Amino acid sequence: MLFRVSKTIIVKCPFCGSDKVSKNGHNKTGKQVYNCNNKECKHRNFIENYVYKACKPEVREQVLKMTVNGTGTRATGRILGISKDTVTPILKNKKMDLASKL
Ligand SMILES: [Zn+2]
Repeated sequence: MLFRVSKTIIVKCPFCGSDKVSKNGHNKTGKQVYNCNNKECKHRNFIENYVYKACKPEVREQVLKMTVNGTGTRATGRILGISKDTVTPILKNKKMDLASKL
């Protein structure tokens, strides 16, 4: 017998990193809302979109390095396995960082 293994996405709270989360319906824009069940976490709920690999500093750094080396936004996202919609805000934030230092 063949079983199709469905992809399990482990959702973690972006604030405390706990994987003790439960689904809590959808918000107005149709995004999945999660509850964080970690009692010590100050953020009790979060939206699926916040769960980005790009939240990790090492991914952010990688994005910036690749951009410096001339890799386009799309290519960067493809190589790192994140969407270009994730890459773009990282670059925007970086520009803001630089602007605030001037
Ligand atoms: Zn949490």
